Amino acid sequence: MTHQDPDCIFCRIVEGSIPADIIYRNNHVLAFRDIAPAAPHHALIIPLRHIVSLSDLTAEDEEVAGHILLAAAPVADILGIRQSGYRMVFNSGADAIQSVMHIHGHVIGGRSMGWPPFPGEAVVHGQ
Ligand code: AMP
Repeated sequence: MTHQDPDCIFCRIVEGSIPADIIYRNNHVLAFRDIAPAAPHHALIIPLRHIVSLSDLTAEDEEVAGHILLAAAPVADILGIRQSGYRMVFNSGADAIQSVMHIHGHVIGGRSMGWPPFPGEAVVHGQ
């Protein structure tokens, strides 16, 4: 597999050297259950190719970015939450607490959710 980072835990899941509870796969993306679920149902959709974050997507990634979104509904179906509703979240960078530097969409559901999702005190950045 090209465009992989040997130090990236999600690239290692893609290549099969680290186990994961894989629930969906096609030629572009892989989805597996989150090891520390934040909701009754929680899966991650990742591109097979190593891309760090939303902020690192380029025009070259247009097709794979589309495939990440297109996987949401089938993954929600597999989790049994397509009808009840779900949220897809991309944490990007420090303020969003991105902890794995391989872009991933969290698909969470199985309970009602609040909005806006900002518990705790705010540290305001940006313009
Ligand atoms: P983020 O904070 O948006 O970078 O989310 C990273 C997510 O990856 C967290 O929800 C972790 O629980 C999850 N995670 C980390 N390592 C693994 C793993 N080996 N298998 C499944 N999920 C993982």
